Amino acid sequence: MPNRIFSIFPQSSPSELVQSQFGDQQVAKSVFLDTLQRPLGDLRISVTDRCNFRCVYCMPREVFGPNYPYLPHRAFLTFEEIARLAKLLVAHGVTKIRLTGGEPLLRKNLEKLVGMLRQLKTPVGSPIDLTLTTNGALLAQKAQQLKDAGLNRVTVSLDALDDTIFKRMNDADFSVAHVLNGLEVAHKVGLGPIKVNMVVKAGVNREQIIPMARHFKNSPFILRFIEYMDVGSTNGWTMNEVISSQAVIDHINQSDHTMQLVPVEANYSGETAQRWKYVDGGGEIGVISSVTHAFCHECTRLRLSTEGQLFTCLFANHGHNMRELLRSNTDDESISAALAHIWKMRSDRYSELRGQQTGPKNKVEMSYIGG
Ligand code: SAM
Ligand code: SF4
Ligand code: SF4
Repeated sequence: MPNRIFSIFPQSSPSELVQSQFGDQQVAKSVFLDTLQRPLGDLRISVTDRCNFRCVYCMPREVFGPNYPYLPHRAFLTFEEIARLAKLLVAHGVTKIRLTGGEPLLRKNLEKLVGMLRQLKTPVGSPIDLTLTTNGALLAQKAQQLKDAGLNRVTVSLDALDDTIFKRMNDADFSVAHVLNGLEVAHKVGLGPIKVNMVVKAGVNREQIIPMARHFKNSPFILRFIEYMDVGSTNGWTMNEVISSQAVIDHINQSDHTMQLVPVEANYSGETAQRWKYVDGGGEIGVISSVTHAFCHECTRLRLSTEGQLFTCLFANHGHNMRELLRSNTDDESISAALAHIWKMRSDRYSELRGQQTGPKNKVEMSYIGG
């Protein structure tokens, strides 16, 4: 018998698939647009709230110490539960899945989940784009297994090339060489194209912008500079610590004549990074301007937390409890209707409203919801 709670959700009706303005994904015309006419396209799945780093902008050690109340393991969604939800969401328009965390490579047997998600097909029969964001610490040892299981590519976070600055930022004594080795192995096994994410924080790693840009120029890796964001409520964010993407581009352009950048067309509408390429053919970089150039109007992302809360925005202060549904007798049809309802009701645009004091209080932490 379907769960009573979900009799309030309208059943999804079969709907016409149409080509979306948001890239090559096909979306269902009537059911799967939110209140701001955005289709569902991406699913980010957090597989653990634990991490082996304590990045100062994400899991400051003073807060995420030994007594921090991490989720008990029994609260984690199982791989079967994750795959069941993912399958229903792929039927609703998701074409891209990113595994994240916490540090996703800390989740035991992650390659098993990768293998299960690899089986999913979009309504038009295409495989999904399956990717993962990692701090790189365990990448060298896991890359081959992940590739064999069907992962397409990885994004690796690296905030500095200087070991002292990097260690100060990750606050867990991990060296740059460790991450660079992970990158090389991932590249060798074919987990590409590989992107490298650098969060830029004023007073902390601004002087690393040029060394990072030089290091990754003419390499197979695409460096992306991310504006420091006010996610969660533990990192003590202030606007003064944000270095805008424009300032990053100007800084690189002014560094010397071999580092001149020009803008490049987006790959698809809704792409989070703005692309720039070196005039001399040395490859491209990206900037993610979540603070100074909000892209909510194109945001097609849904996030699933480790314990099965579904969030329609990175800055939300509450989620929708899918675990309860998954662990009750609810059938796929009713869960599918609940998912459609959640997306249809979505009206989030936190970054566009930032500064107007209308955003939610007690926002969820990045390490919990995933980047
Ligand atoms: N542990 C993995 C990692 O670091 O790549 C995956 C999870 S992490 C939360 C995902 C991404 O979020 C990372 O690239 C990280 O740099 C970014 N991030 C975390 N806190 C941030 C903040 N306050 N502002 C901007 N980006 C942030
Ligand atoms: Fe861990 Fe990633 Fe957060 Fe750093 S950014 S503390 S590596 S979850
Ligand atoms: Fe999407 Fe929310 Fe970020 Fe806007 S603030 S881009 S709606 S996640």
